[in-house]
Amino acid sequence: MITPSTRLLPLASIVSALFLSGMPAAQAAPQQSPIDITAQNTKFQQLSPMLFDLSSDTTLSVINNGSPGVFKTAARANVDAGAGSVTVDGDTYQLAQFHFHTPAEHLENGKVFPMEMHMVFEDPSKNILVVGRWVEEGASNAALEPIFSDLPKTTTQTHVFNHFDLNALLPSNLESFRYDGSLTTPDFNEGVKWIDLAQPMQMSAAEINAYSSLFPNGDAREIQDLNGRIVLTDVPGFASAVPEPETYAMLLAGLGLIGFAARRKNGRLGKPGLVGSIA
Ligand SMILES: [Zn+2]
Repeated sequence: MITPSTRLLPLASIVSALFLSGMPAAQAAPQQSPIDITAQNTKFQQLSPMLFDLSSDTTLSVINNGSPGVFKTAARANVDAGAGSVTVDGDTYQLAQFHFHTPAEHLENGKVFPMEMHMVFEDPSKNILVVGRWVEEGASNAALEPIFSDLPKTTTQTHVFNHFDLNALLPSNLESFRYDGSLTTPDFNEGVKWIDLAQPMQMSAAEINAYSSLFPNGDAREIQDLNGRIVLTDVPGFASAVPEPETYAMLLAGLGLIGFAARRKNGRLGKPGLVGSIA
Protein backbone atom coordinates (compact mmCIF):
# COMPACT_ATOMS: atom_id res chain seq x y z
CA MET A 1 0.00 0.00 0.00
CA ILE A 2 1.46 3.31 -1.05
CA THR A 3 0.39 6.35 0.89
CA PRO A 4 0.02 9.68 -0.90
CA SER A 5 2.98 11.16 0.98
CA THR A 6 5.39 8.40 -0.06
CA ARG A 7 4.18 8.61 -3.65
CA LEU A 8 4.98 12.30 -3.59
CA LEU A 9 8.55 11.81 -2.46
CA PRO A 10 10.28 11.03 -5.78
CA LEU A 11 8.65 14.03 -7.42
CA ALA A 12 9.48 16.14 -4.38
CA SER A 13 13.11 15.15 -4.69
CA ILE A 14 13.20 16.10 -8.34
CA VAL A 15 11.56 19.46 -7.77
CA SER A 16 13.73 20.26 -4.76
CA ALA A 17 16.79 19.25 -6.78
CA LEU A 18 15.69 21.73 -9.43
CA PHE A 19 15.39 24.35 -6.73
CA LEU A 20 18.80 23.56 -5.33
CA SER A 21 20.36 23.71 -8.78
CA GLY A 22 18.93 27.21 -9.02
CA MET A 23 20.80 28.29 -5.86
CA PRO A 24 23.91 29.79 -7.51
CA ALA A 25 21.73 32.42 -9.17
CA ALA A 26 20.18 33.27 -5.80
CA GLN A 27 23.63 33.67 -4.24
CA ALA A 28 24.34 36.55 -6.59
CA ALA A 29 22.26 38.69 -4.19
CA PRO A 30 24.37 40.94 -1.97
CA GLN A 31 25.72 39.29 1.19
CA GLN A 32 26.57 42.34 3.24
CA SER A 33 27.21 42.92 6.94
CA PRO A 34 26.16 43.70 9.61
CA ILE A 35 22.80 41.99 10.10
CA ASP A 36 20.17 41.60 12.77
CA ILE A 37 20.55 38.07 14.16
CA THR A 38 17.08 36.90 15.11
CA ALA A 39 15.34 33.74 16.24
CA GLN A 40 13.66 33.61 12.84
CA ASN A 41 16.80 33.78 10.69
CA THR A 42 18.94 31.38 12.69
CA LYS A 43 19.12 27.61 12.54
CA PHE A 44 20.41 25.50 15.40
CA GLN A 45 23.08 22.95 14.62
CA GLN A 46 26.37 21.55 15.86
CA LEU A 47 29.18 23.89 14.70
CA SER A 48 32.80 23.03 14.04
CA PRO A 49 35.13 23.98 16.90
CA MET A 50 37.16 27.21 16.91
CA LEU A 51 40.71 26.46 17.99
CA PHE A 52 42.23 29.71 19.23
CA ASP A 53 45.97 30.04 19.79
CA LEU A 54 46.47 33.50 21.31
CA SER A 55 49.51 35.02 22.99
CA SER A 56 49.06 35.81 26.67
CA ASP A 57 51.87 38.37 26.54
CA THR A 58 51.97 40.47 23.41
CA THR A 59 52.39 44.07 22.35
CA LEU A 60 49.53 46.16 21.00
CA SER A 61 49.91 49.26 18.85
CA VAL A 62 46.71 51.21 19.30
CA ILE A 63 45.88 53.77 16.64
CA ASN A 64 42.94 56.01 15.86
CA ASN A 65 42.35 55.71 12.14
CA GLY A 66 40.08 58.67 12.12
CA SER A 67 36.82 59.33 10.38
CA PRO A 68 37.38 59.38 6.65
CA GLY A 69 34.21 60.19 4.74
CA VAL A 70 30.78 59.01 5.74
CA PHE A 71 31.87 55.68 7.17
CA LYS A 72 33.73 56.22 10.36
CA THR A 73 36.49 53.86 11.23
CA ALA A 74 37.71 53.15 14.69
CA ALA A 75 40.40 52.98 17.29
CA ARG A 76 42.25 49.84 16.40
CA ALA A 77 44.79 47.63 18.15
CA ASN A 78 47.31 46.16 15.73
CA VAL A 79 48.99 42.98 16.96
CA ASP A 80 52.39 41.58 16.12
CA ALA A 81 52.57 38.93 13.39
CA GLY A 82 52.14 35.49 14.87
CA ALA A 83 50.55 36.74 18.10
CA GLY A 84 47.33 34.89 17.50
CA SER A 85 45.46 32.53 15.24
CA VAL A 86 42.23 30.64 14.99
CA THR A 87 41.67 27.36 13.16
CA VAL A 88 38.18 26.56 11.90
CA ASP A 89 37.29 23.72 9.54
CA GLY A 90 40.96 22.97 8.96
CA ASP A 91 41.81 26.52 7.86
CA THR A 92 44.14 28.61 10.04
CA TYR A 93 43.70 32.39 10.12
CA GLN A 94 46.20 34.82 11.67
CA LEU A 95 45.03 37.68 13.89
CA ALA A 96 45.88 41.04 12.30
CA GLN A 97 44.08 43.48 14.61
CA PHE A 98 41.04 44.06 16.74
CA HIS A 99 38.87 47.14 16.93
CA PHE A 100 35.55 48.38 18.23
CA HIS A 101 32.35 49.94 16.95
CA THR A 102 29.84 52.09 18.77
CA PRO A 103 27.01 51.30 18.89
CA ALA A 104 27.28 47.58 18.06
CA GLU A 105 26.94 46.78 14.37
CA HIS A 106 25.19 43.40 14.65
CA LEU A 107 21.89 43.34 16.46
CA GLU A 108 20.54 40.45 18.51
CA ASN A 109 16.78 40.16 18.02
CA GLY A 110 16.74 43.90 17.39
CA LYS A 111 18.71 44.70 20.53
CA VAL A 112 21.47 47.29 20.15
CA PHE A 113 24.49 46.73 22.41
CA PRO A 114 26.55 49.85 23.24
CA MET A 115 29.66 48.49 21.51
CA GLU A 116 30.98 45.56 19.49
CA MET A 117 34.51 44.21 19.18
CA HIS A 118 35.85 42.74 15.93
CA MET A 119 38.92 40.49 15.87
CA VAL A 120 40.09 40.39 12.25
CA PHE A 121 41.85 37.23 11.07
CA GLU A 122 43.28 36.41 7.64
CA ASP A 123 44.42 33.11 6.12
CA PRO A 124 47.36 32.70 3.68
CA SER A 125 44.92 33.05 0.73
CA LYS A 126 43.73 36.42 2.12
CA ASN A 127 40.35 35.02 3.18
CA ILE A 128 39.03 37.06 6.08
CA LEU A 129 37.33 35.74 9.18
CA VAL A 130 36.00 38.16 11.79
CA VAL A 131 35.20 37.09 15.33
CA GLY A 132 32.74 39.60 16.75
CA ARG A 133 31.71 40.07 20.34
CA TRP A 134 29.11 42.38 21.79
CA VAL A 135 29.98 44.68 24.68
CA GLU A 136 27.45 45.22 27.44
CA GLU A 137 27.68 47.70 30.29
CA GLY A 138 28.78 46.10 33.52
CA ALA A 139 31.99 45.57 35.42
CA SER A 140 35.19 47.29 34.40
CA ASN A 141 37.23 45.24 31.94
CA ALA A 142 40.59 44.71 33.61
CA ALA A 143 42.39 43.78 30.38
CA LEU A 144 41.05 46.65 28.28
CA GLU A 145 40.87 49.37 30.94
CA PRO A 146 44.47 50.60 30.39
CA ILE A 147 43.74 51.02 26.67
CA PHE A 148 40.35 52.65 27.07
CA SER A 149 41.62 55.10 29.66
CA ASP A 150 44.30 56.22 27.20
CA LEU A 151 42.80 56.05 23.72
CA PRO A 152 44.66 57.94 20.98
CA LYS A 153 42.66 61.10 20.30
CA THR A 154 44.10 61.81 16.86
CA THR A 155 45.32 59.90 13.84
CA THR A 156 48.91 60.91 14.51
CA GLN A 157 49.16 59.09 17.83
CA THR A 158 50.15 55.48 18.41
CA HIS A 159 49.86 54.15 21.93
CA VAL A 160 51.87 51.03 22.65
CA PHE A 161 50.74 48.59 25.34
CA ASN A 162 53.01 45.77 26.43
CA HIS A 163 52.09 42.47 28.08
CA PHE A 164 48.56 42.23 26.72
CA ASP A 165 46.78 38.90 27.13
CA LEU A 166 44.74 38.33 23.96
CA ASN A 167 42.87 35.48 25.65
CA ALA A 168 41.14 38.11 27.80
CA LEU A 169 39.12 39.09 24.72
CA LEU A 170 37.37 35.72 24.57
CA PRO A 171 34.55 34.38 26.71
CA SER A 172 34.67 31.00 28.42
CA ASN A 173 31.64 29.95 26.38
CA LEU A 174 32.36 29.95 22.64
CA GLU A 175 28.81 29.42 21.41
CA SER A 176 28.31 31.60 18.36
CA PHE A 177 26.37 32.79 15.35
CA ARG A 178 27.97 32.17 11.95
CA TYR A 179 27.17 33.48 8.50
CA ASP A 180 28.82 34.73 5.31
CA GLY A 181 28.94 38.49 4.95
CA SER A 182 31.19 41.41 4.17
CA LEU A 183 33.49 43.99 5.65
CA THR A 184 31.46 46.75 7.29
CA THR A 185 33.82 49.47 6.08
CA PRO A 186 34.78 50.38 2.48
CA ASP A 187 35.14 48.59 0.16
CA PHE A 188 32.61 46.28 1.85
CA ASN A 189 34.24 43.22 0.25
CA GLU A 190 32.15 40.07 0.52
CA GLY A 191 33.30 36.53 1.24
CA VAL A 192 33.99 37.38 4.89
CA LYS A 193 33.28 34.60 7.38
CA TRP A 194 31.53 36.00 10.43
CA ILE A 195 31.56 34.33 13.82
CA ASP A 196 29.67 36.40 16.36
CA LEU A 197 30.21 35.12 19.87
CA ALA A 198 27.00 34.87 21.84
CA GLN A 199 28.42 35.78 25.25
CA PRO A 200 28.96 39.57 25.51
CA MET A 201 31.99 41.09 27.20
CA GLN A 202 31.48 43.56 30.01
CA MET A 203 32.91 47.03 30.14
CA SER A 204 32.16 49.82 32.58
CA ALA A 205 30.09 52.86 31.63
CA ALA A 206 33.26 54.97 31.89
CA GLU A 207 35.12 52.72 29.44
CA ILE A 208 32.23 52.73 26.99
CA ASN A 209 31.93 56.51 27.30
CA ALA A 210 35.65 56.96 26.71
CA TYR A 211 35.20 55.28 23.36
CA SER A 212 31.87 56.75 22.29
CA SER A 213 33.04 60.28 23.13
CA LEU A 214 35.82 59.78 20.55
CA PHE A 215 33.19 58.88 17.95
CA PRO A 216 30.18 60.98 18.94
CA ASN A 217 28.36 60.14 15.69
CA GLY A 218 29.12 56.44 16.06
CA ASP A 219 31.22 54.26 13.81
CA ALA A 220 28.71 51.52 13.02
CA ARG A 221 27.31 50.62 9.63
CA GLU A 222 23.54 50.20 9.32
CA ILE A 223 21.88 46.76 9.21
CA GLN A 224 21.95 45.03 5.82
CA ASP A 225 19.39 42.78 4.12
CA LEU A 226 19.77 39.05 4.69
CA ASN A 227 18.76 38.16 1.13
CA GLY A 228 17.85 34.64 2.13
CA ARG A 229 20.89 33.93 4.28
CA ILE A 230 20.47 31.69 7.29
CA VAL A 231 22.62 32.21 10.38
CA LEU A 232 23.86 29.01 12.00
CA THR A 233 24.06 28.87 15.76
CA ASP A 234 24.95 26.41 18.48
CA VAL A 235 23.27 28.53 21.16
CA PRO A 236 20.65 26.21 22.66
CA GLY A 237 17.12 27.56 22.46
CA PHE A 238 17.96 30.68 20.42
CA ALA A 239 16.64 29.64 17.01
CA SER A 240 12.89 29.36 16.68
CA ALA A 241 11.58 26.03 15.45
CA VAL A 242 12.92 25.31 11.99
CA PRO A 243 11.38 22.51 9.93
CA GLU A 244 13.34 19.28 9.67
CA PRO A 245 15.33 19.09 6.40
CA GLU A 246 12.85 16.61 4.87
CA THR A 247 9.91 18.85 5.75
CA TYR A 248 11.75 21.84 4.34
CA ALA A 249 12.43 20.01 1.05
CA MET A 250 8.75 19.06 0.87
CA LEU A 251 7.79 22.68 1.50
CA LEU A 252 10.07 23.86 -1.30
CA ALA A 253 8.76 21.11 -3.53
CA GLY A 254 5.21 22.17 -2.77
CA LEU A 255 6.00 25.77 -3.65
CA GLY A 256 7.70 24.55 -6.81
CA LEU A 257 4.66 22.55 -7.85
CA ILE A 258 2.37 25.52 -7.27
CA GLY A 259 4.66 27.67 -9.41
CA PHE A 260 4.85 24.96 -12.06
CA ALA A 261 1.08 24.64 -12.22
CA ALA A 262 0.61 28.40 -12.33
CA ARG A 263 3.01 28.83 -15.20
CA ARG A 264 1.49 25.96 -17.16
CA LYS A 265 -1.98 27.38 -16.65
CA ASN A 266 -0.84 30.72 -18.02
CA GLY A 267 0.74 29.03 -21.00
CA ARG A 268 4.11 30.53 -20.11
CA LEU A 269 6.00 27.29 -19.55
CA GLY A 270 8.80 26.94 -22.03
CA LYS A 271 9.59 30.61 -22.37
CA PRO A 272 13.37 30.79 -22.22
CA GLY A 273 13.66 33.17 -19.32
CA LEU A 274 11.48 31.13 -16.97
CA VAL A 275 12.98 27.77 -17.76
CA GLY A 276 16.43 29.25 -17.57
CA SER A 277 15.82 30.66 -14.12
CA ILE A 278 14.84 27.26 -12.73
CA ALA A 279 17.56 25.21 -14.34
ZN1 LIG B 1 34.67 46.18 12.47
